[in-house]
Amino acid sequence: MYNEKRFKNNLLQWFDTEQRAMPWRETKNPYYIWLSEVMLQQTQVKTVIDYYLRFIARFPTIRDLSEAHEDEVLKLWEGLGYYSRARNFHTAIRDVHQNHNSEVPMDPKTFGALKGVGPYTQAAVMSIAFDQPLATVDGNVFRVWSRLNNDTRDTKLQTTRKAYEAELAPYVQQSAGDFNQAMMELGAMICTPKAPLCLFCPVQEHCEAFEQGTVADLPVKTTKVKKKVIKQHVYLVKNEFNEYLITKRKANLLNNMWQFPMYDIEDEHSLESDIGVNINFYKQSSYQLKHQFTHLTWDIKVFEAKHIVHKEDITLTADMEWLDLNQKDNYNFPVSMTKIYQFLRE
Ligand code: SF4
Repeated sequence: MYNEKRFKNNLLQWFDTEQRAMPWRETKNPYYIWLSEVMLQQTQVKTVIDYYLRFIARFPTIRDLSEAHEDEVLKLWEGLGYYSRARNFHTAIRDVHQNHNSEVPMDPKTFGALKGVGPYTQAAVMSIAFDQPLATVDGNVFRVWSRLNNDTRDTKLQTTRKAYEAELAPYVQQSAGDFNQAMMELGAMICTPKAPLCLFCPVQEHCEAFEQGTVADLPVKTTKVKKKVIKQHVYLVKNEFNEYLITKRKANLLNNMWQFPMYDIEDEHSLESDIGVNINFYKQSSYQLKHQFTHLTWDIKVFEAKHIVHKEDITLTADMEWLDLNQKDNYNFPVSMTKIYQFLRE
């Protein structure tokens, strides 16, 4: 970086005039800013906006959310995925309500100790809501900063993250919130992963990768994690009232959400052993899908029962119910199960 002051001015001026309108940019309420940051993890802005607006309409204050039942919170989150984010956020908000007088702590260390608050969320919320001098380093910032400095360090390493935070620290001593948001906005709008718009870039004159012709080689990410694939079988069991058997998940992933009975094919349990009834299923799967999580993929095959099961033949436990297809909105279904539900409705 040749002229740090001029770089920051160019970036902030561009952000001032070109930033996209987003509802959470129109507030200084730290609870709303925090919520937006949680929702935006792994999720695109255009998807988040409706969810965000619905959420704050239903839970306008920290107190409202802290008093809510988890099922209702998850229901409002349905479709956004990564449900542990919602659970952790809910837990943290209860903590803030009970132990911090319903006020989001302004002290980064106290805030960083709350459930689900990692270094990125800590820096984003503290800088945007309170202008605390912390630099956010997310995928956008890694890309922009590595290109600006023609930096070939592996952006997957924690040591690189720490180094970036330290290098960016001088830029966030003032206007931290705007600077961080401007860097991320530049990464989202101009300095994109493929085909960045260098000719329209407000900081092109400061960019070493542009000068050296190495933009396409950056950022460097060497340690790609290979995703694990888990084969799952889903069983559709219908009774004489046209209702389908659903069960509540017990695994950590998507815990407490509802599903059509699903079993990892390597799991020792089976539907028969859980419900104590033998059912014949079509051998040929009638529907299949793949669902991606951050670190794993579900490869799902769906099997339909060959015959209708009498409602009274299955003794439901507390974690089982019969789903009337018109009542799905009463249940929290993860995205993969909603797709299967839609297949049933076709
Ligand atoms: Fe990114 Fe190109 Fe701007 Fe450099 S000039 S920061 S590579 S968009």
